[in-house]
Amino acid sequence: MNSTTPDISLVDFHCHLDLYADHEQQIRRCEALRTKILAVTNAPSVWPRNREMVSGCKHIRVALGLHPELAAKRGHEMALFEQLLKQSRYVGEVGLDGSPQLADTFAIQREVFGRILGLCAHEGGKVLTVHSRRAAKDVIALIGAELPADRGRVVLHWFTGSAGEAAQAVKLGCYFSVNSVMLTTGRGRQLVAGLPPERVLTETDGPFVSFQGHPAIPGDVLAVVQGLADVWGVHETAAATRVHDNLRRLLET
Ligand code: MN
Repeated sequence: MNSTTPDISLVDFHCHLDLYADHEQQIRRCEALRTKILAVTNAPSVWPRNREMVSGCKHIRVALGLHPELAAKRGHEMALFEQLLKQSRYVGEVGLDGSPQLADTFAIQREVFGRILGLCAHEGGKVLTVHSRRAAKDVIALIGAELPADRGRVVLHWFTGSAGEAAQAVKLGCYFSVNSVMLTTGRGRQLVAGLPPERVLTETDGPFVSFQGHPAIPGDVLAVVQGLADVWGVHETAAATRVHDNLRRLLET
């Protein structure tokens, strides 16, 4: 697949579009390529500006987020989150981060994420992109307790939990967005290979993920598609089509 086969839109379901200095240019490029982008945000206060940035875009959506790393510092923005939630079908980046350096904020993270899941369940119809670094077990438990599958859909972004935890998440109806870093290790590829192919999406997590020595640019998921094609044993056009169909199904439910 290359520029001569533009009929399948690529999917970047987790990208920090607002953190690119040249985001206007990136937005124009992604729109021209018809790449489906979910632009995540890290705090409710930046959501309105993000929405404005992509107004008029056909292929880019913005998610309302409160990143777990900011949950303690920006916890006061939960009131704003609640206020804006009615206007946003997409939610993220949200979740939990169990890294040792964030251990002292974990209780607050849980409170914030639990509250967000509860609000989403109450509203219904939301699609969430969820961070779970070193916290897969707690993230899955909270989703199971707070957000029934018929009240909202979760996409676990950059999932690095165990195969058993992945299986639990699958049972809860979760999808997974896979990035290039996940496919660089044997363990990562094995995890991805074990996921139901119909629950897999692609992401860059740019600009936090580097690809070939440079921060990934929004929509730059071709290598991920190629990696998935390899793992699935299909042609990359078939892999791209599958991801595209998965996204359509996710958004229909
Ligand atoms: Mn991210």
